[in-house]
Amino acid sequence: MRRDPAVSRFEAGRLSPSRRDADLSRLRLERFDVLVIGGGVTGVGAALDAASRGLSVALVEAADLAAGTSSRSSKLIHGGLRYLEQLEFGLVHEALRERGLLATRLAPHLVRPLPILVPLEASVPPVRLWNRLYFGAGVALYDAFAGLVGGDRGMPPHRHLSRTGTRRLFPSLREDLVTGAIRYYDGQVDDARYVATMARTAASLGAAVVPSARVVGLVRDAREVTGAVVRDQETGVQFTVAARTVVAATGVWSNEISALVGAKRPGLRVRASKGVHLVVPRSAITGDAGLILRTQSSVLFVLPWGGHWIIGTTDTDWTLDRAHPAASSRDITYLLEQVNHWLDRPVSPADIEGVYAGLRPLLSGEDEETSKLSREHAVVEPMLGLMLVAGGKYTTYRVMAADVIDRAARRLGPGIPRSHTDQLPLLGADGYQPMWTNRADLARRHGVPVGVVEHLLERYGTLTLELLDLVASRPYLGRPVDGAPEYLGAEIVYAASHEGALHLEDALTRRTRISIETDHRGAESARHAAELMSSVLGWDKVTRDREVEHYLARVAAERESQRMPDDLTADAARLGAPEVRGATAAPSPG
Ligand SMILES: Cc1cc2nc3c(=O)[nH]c(=O)nc-3n(C[C@H](O)[C@H](O)[C@H](O)COP(=O)(O)OP(=O)(O)OC[C@H]3O[C@@H](n4cnc5c(N)ncnc54)[C@H](O)[C@@H]3O)c2cc1C
Repeated sequence: MRRDPAVSRFEAGRLSPSRRDADLSRLRLERFDVLVIGGGVTGVGAALDAASRGLSVALVEAADLAAGTSSRSSKLIHGGLRYLEQLEFGLVHEALRERGLLATRLAPHLVRPLPILVPLEASVPPVRLWNRLYFGAGVALYDAFAGLVGGDRGMPPHRHLSRTGTRRLFPSLREDLVTGAIRYYDGQVDDARYVATMARTAASLGAAVVPSARVVGLVRDAREVTGAVVRDQETGVQFTVAARTVVAATGVWSNEISALVGAKRPGLRVRASKGVHLVVPRSAITGDAGLILRTQSSVLFVLPWGGHWIIGTTDTDWTLDRAHPAASSRDITYLLEQVNHWLDRPVSPADIEGVYAGLRPLLSGEDEETSKLSREHAVVEPMLGLMLVAGGKYTTYRVMAADVIDRAARRLGPGIPRSHTDQLPLLGADGYQPMWTNRADLARRHGVPVGVVEHLLERYGTLTLELLDLVASRPYLGRPVDGAPEYLGAEIVYAASHEGALHLEDALTRRTRISIETDHRGAESARHAAELMSSVLGWDKVTRDREVEHYLARVAAERESQRMPDDLTADAARLGAPEVRGATAAPSPG
């Protein structure tokens, strides 16, 4: 289905409840060139890549867009400074090229430069000099890979800082421990918002995008995969989707997809490594840059995140529930110990506002420990018509997407154009820079504070106009969400009306980050947000109450798990909260 030229791109990319119904009907009726399984950054990237080549595309996501790993990362668009030490020059170079593209052309509204300090430890003079030379050379190489000249690098160059300069920029760093620092830049992104925006971009090019739709089986015709059996998680109805190629971008669930076809040699296996992050208020640490700190096995980031800091991460094997990896008290203690080693005033457990855990989809097969497993990605075709893509990292999703769609294109026949997503800005990017420059004017014209317009522009780009229109038509939506002064009521309504949010947790956890940015973890916002979503999703009181109950149960279970000593007990506590998806749906054939 091609977009009707009479419909604007914004409108065509609107993931509304009625669009979901229409896309569900298409899933039953059409035979797609490409059916993508998985609505994380890789799957949505693949859907966009295929749609922009003119292919007919459907994407199904079992839960919410970015509900898996793609909402739980460190939120860096980076080359990976530490991979230089492992001599992974090719990977670093590729990722830095992507970083430049995302920050300048594809999504300047969503990816922004973030200064990060490499602190240099105080030591005897020769070691001190060696450290500065060693890390200085690393950071210089990093900048060189990004391209020293030209506007496309998207990030300012690095700079050496003296002890005084470091102290001025980061007063909370322990003075006795640090003799100076090197400041470099990487990109920062709201990972879940990026995925939702990209899904809308794919939808604007005609892709059917259906969250809450789980693949429960694959359809085979002799030796070929020709489609999938999909269960609508909202109604329990099952039906078949016909497709000439099926792309599974299911991250840490990849082995399940291989198992569905019973492939004897799946071609790739994925193992999960858990990474936990803490969120603390900005006031807990005084500094105007992020930090990259060495730990025994890896690195720890301390990153400014709006009015907060994100501290992470851990890196441990995880074999328990993959939908809700749980952080234990051991993980939290470890992170606090690591960060407090460097700070003059320790961060205490009482400072913690939010905690989140994610699972790295690591290609397995090697013998190394998980923290050293290859970050490269792989595309395999374990059965004709079925392509699996996994591994890699968020930053390089576009490369993974192009690789897997190239593979699908080979099967679909000649005449399919090459990937050109490097030339395709996401919705909200076109016209962003001038709108940012003129933000004061925009604020004045809409009668809202400049701060509100800035907040919106950095989350929606030029789509901000749609939110301002919402506020103009219903002024009460210009007021903050209860318990979350950083967010407007309009954002919750918009999440449901334009961004495919179907449940309260989608809006509180991924379209906004209220669940990790408030010490009540969204509990005090739940009722208000549910009322706002009701107007779009047609919830009656019973549904509203159920949504709120589920959300509160989830928050309670997460808190409980974080008091548990280890993975096993934390996982058991987290599983105490029932799933909101599928809670009312009885399975039935469609
Ligand atoms: C702690 C941590 C920090 C990280 N930090 C960074 C970083 O700063 N920068 C960076 O570049 N990378 C980072 N990464 C890596 C990056 O986040 C991941 O590589 C990336 O998000 C993986 O995306 P994905 O789409 O492959 O998987 P996912 O996001 O997990 O998506 C897979 C999707 O498939 C869906 N699915 C599964 N089974 C089915 C089914 N049967 N039917 C339908 N849908 C299904 C799932 O619900 C899920 O949404 C980090 C990872 C972790 C864990």
